[in-house]
Amino acid sequence: MSHTLSVREIPFASRRVFLRVDFNVPLEAGRITDDTRLAAALPTIRLLLDGGASIVCASHLGRPKGKPRPEASLRPVAARLQELLGRKVTLAPDCVGAEVEGMARALPRGGVLLLENLRFHAGEEQNDDAFARGLAALGEAYVNDAFGAAHRAHASVAAITAHLKPAAAGLLMDREIGMLTRLRDRPEKPYVALLGGAKVSDKIDLIDHLLGRVDAILVGGAMAYTFLKAAGVAVGGSRVEADRVDAARATAARARERGVRLVLPVDHIVADGPAPGRPSDTTPGAAIPDGMVGLDVGPQTRAVFGAEIARARTVFWNGPLGLFEVAPYDQGTLAAARAIAAAERCFSVVGGGDSVAAITRLGLADRFAHVSTGGGASLEFLSGLTLPGVAALDSASGDAPVASR
Ligand code: ADP
Ligand code: MG
Repeated sequence: MSHTLSVREIPFASRRVFLRVDFNVPLEAGRITDDTRLAAALPTIRLLLDGGASIVCASHLGRPKGKPRPEASLRPVAARLQELLGRKVTLAPDCVGAEVEGMARALPRGGVLLLENLRFHAGEEQNDDAFARGLAALGEAYVNDAFGAAHRAHASVAAITAHLKPAAAGLLMDREIGMLTRLRDRPEKPYVALLGGAKVSDKIDLIDHLLGRVDAILVGGAMAYTFLKAAGVAVGGSRVEADRVDAARATAARARERGVRLVLPVDHIVADGPAPGRPSDTTPGAAIPDGMVGLDVGPQTRAVFGAEIARARTVFWNGPLGLFEVAPYDQGTLAAARAIAAAERCFSVVGGGDSVAAITRLGLADRFAHVSTGGGASLEFLSGLTLPGVAALDSASGDAPVASR
């Protein structure tokens, strides 16, 4: 059995820890609009600093494609992290090289150095071994708390563990792996998955994997129209992935064979286009008239989904049920969030950037058993795939002394 070492199991006092975090925050005109990801890394940072370590902190930000770009600088992140931590955070001019190594070596106990954007170097996304060695030279131990980047085989999460040991999971990474493993391997029944969002193609692997585990899959969002079309229901001008209709039909057939109920919307909120302010209408049934597009699930569907959720002992939710950014098409998503929050004795997990944004906006995040910080990473994990960032920690722990737990 592979074992992921936890940061609590490695000696880090008086050591310089290379800490990979996910500080890929949204920026508008150089200002951070949501610092959830910074806050999520604070427990690990505090644990390390309180335990007498110094930290060399590394992250990617945006898609600078292997070249330094001022608009993708981590400078605003350094400033915000310094505020949140209440101690000095120095931004390095780069993430590898002699100057940065000098700055890392000069760090006092309790010092924090934030490296400049890892993706300013092409070697990061190429999982390049020489680049990984350059990163490894900056630390004396490796901790990965970037669950949101764990599904990428990139140098700072994968190749680096061959050169820097011990290698351990941070508190956030550890919690994500623990909660998602419980959901994947030991879900209490009835287990209901609620899936929405824009595209079937993003989630078809997940659905196929879930078929072997869940009792029901409730489908909303734009994804539902592809499934409805596959079932021969009229969808008007709604978003359909024409090249996935056959795949959706095959998935529906597999669900029937396995005795999993695939529950599609029974009514919709429609309009003649997705722009805000247009008059909207509620369909009496599942069919959508010509010239109309579906933008949210209707009231009957909200009730059907709500009843399924109320009976469930495990719920996994990914993807908004409508165009929730535009009122009034947020009602299906809000109703689902409230239904899950109200479900008693239910192990509820939500993953996905937009779904998490929706429950955070409602102030319901603390009513869920687990809110995953990794969109793509959580979906791949639940799809049964091995995440490169987790595999790299596991293989690195094979030759490290492992405390029992
Ligand atoms: P997540 O980030 O939670 O994984 P996705 O990225 O898959 O979710 O999908 C979110 C997007 O899907 C949102 O921008 C939402 O507006 C869109 N969406 C959901 N339902 C509809 C719909 N009926 N019509 C248009 N867009 C939709
Ligand atoms: Mg999204």
